[in-house]
Amino acid sequence: MSGLKRTIIRTGLETLFFSGAYLMMRPFIGGVGVILTLHHVRPPRPDRFQPNRLLEVTPDFLDNVLRYLRRAGLDLVSLDEMHRRLTEGDFRRRFACITIDDGYRDTLQWAYPILKKYEVPFAIYIPTSFPDRLGELWWLALEAVVGRNRHVSLLIDGKQRSFDCASVADKRHLFDELYGWVRSFKTEEELRRVVRDLSARYSVDIAAFCDELCMTWDELSRLAADPLVTIGAHTVNHVMLAKVPERLARSEMEMSRSVIEAALDTRPDHLSYPVGDRTSAGPREFRIAAELGFKTAVTTRPGVLFPEHAEHLTALPRISLNGEHQQLRYVRVLLSGAATAVWNGFQRVDAA
Ligand SMILES: [Zn+2]
Repeated sequence: MSGLKRTIIRTGLETLFFSGAYLMMRPFIGGVGVILTLHHVRPPRPDRFQPNRLLEVTPDFLDNVLRYLRRAGLDLVSLDEMHRRLTEGDFRRRFACITIDDGYRDTLQWAYPILKKYEVPFAIYIPTSFPDRLGELWWLALEAVVGRNRHVSLLIDGKQRSFDCASVADKRHLFDELYGWVRSFKTEEELRRVVRDLSARYSVDIAAFCDELCMTWDELSRLAADPLVTIGAHTVNHVMLAKVPERLARSEMEMSRSVIEAALDTRPDHLSYPVGDRTSAGPREFRIAAELGFKTAVTTRPGVLFPEHAEHLTALPRISLNGEHQQLRYVRVLLSGAATAVWNGFQRVDAA
């Protein structure tokens, strides 16, 4: 995320908080519940170049958020219970679901003990290539290429281009440029090819990130054995589904469910679209997930849940606990629905 965008979001959250506007707005835009998104939960690291930091929060922050949710009187529920409340129209009490994407080892090491301490149900969405050790965490490969080198050169539109990235500021700038560029590709294949080429050129071992950071099937089975834990699907190869042909999108969703069922003896009823923004999941993916019989599927489109979402169970919004905004007051504004209402132009359901 660019510094400017970060500042704008933060200023908006601060304004909504300190003006108290979020409290007045809450009855109208607060919805019936919320699904929270986490990725990494781990202690802070000192590195100054951490372009993927938005994907991680500290254990202390998670602890604070859970205590706040309890104090605020929200029911912390599983995805199955959320599904029941939405389909039966049981909105007597506001609820929150905790979801963790990707199956990093820090989920087991740091998040799980905290969630267990408060007896909070939660879901983990697994891209099966990660425990199979075939996954490509390409955003980390990109970070490593920029982080470990003083110059980076690559072919852009057929032309050889060179970039200096000795300073932290240059690294941040170059990462944002490269990240934006690869995310703008029409196909997932093209993105993977560019990151593979760059990794090979700068001796970054993409496969090593899986080993280092992701849970094995054994570790996952320890979590899966706990009734607090729901195991959800997150495709096989963590692909942006809207950027692959329909046949492949369908098999990515279907295969991941079968692989999880074979490995963990539990058949996922819930799905998370990788990346999950509108460039990665749209009406076609929402339809396929419903056709495949998933009870719910979540995006990363920001928003709280309204009764109307019962008609769009495979296009649910979430609220990300973003590592760049680890303040309880931001969480209060986000949970009130005020921030996302403003971002979404007060449109409650966005399934288009
Ligand atoms: Zn993911």
